[in-house]
Amino acid sequence: MTEEKYETYKEILLENRKKILNKIEEIDRSWSKTLRESTGDISAYATHLADLGSESNEREKETRILDREIRHLKEIDKALKRIYKDKYGTCTFCGEKISPQRLRAIPETDYCITCKKNIEKNNSRNHRT
Ligand SMILES: [Zn+2]
Repeated sequence: MTEEKYETYKEILLENRKKILNKIEEIDRSWSKTLRESTGDISAYATHLADLGSESNEREKETRILDREIRHLKEIDKALKRIYKDKYGTCTFCGEKISPQRLRAIPETDYCITCKKNIEKNNSRNHRT
């Protein structure tokens, strides 16, 4: 993959990263505010987050969003690392090139479409919901 193309994906990844961080901060701010109001002590933040975990549907929803965003953030960081190591755009499972269409749709993807489908098939077999 050429340098120029790397740059495009890197920009997209960094842009997405920023959006995710903003969202995480937003949730973090609203939680910190609630905690400051209820405890007056920000150092108890972590413990109280656990305590308050099941307090409300709103918080549960936010926890789920936060989980998802943090996972997504990790994927983006991994993809950025692959760009720096010159490994970007290659399936980490089979080593084949990932199609540009797929990279444009999901720039942080680890796997080519074939491996992704196989992994998903295995996952749904293992943990049927
Ligand atoms: Zn693959």
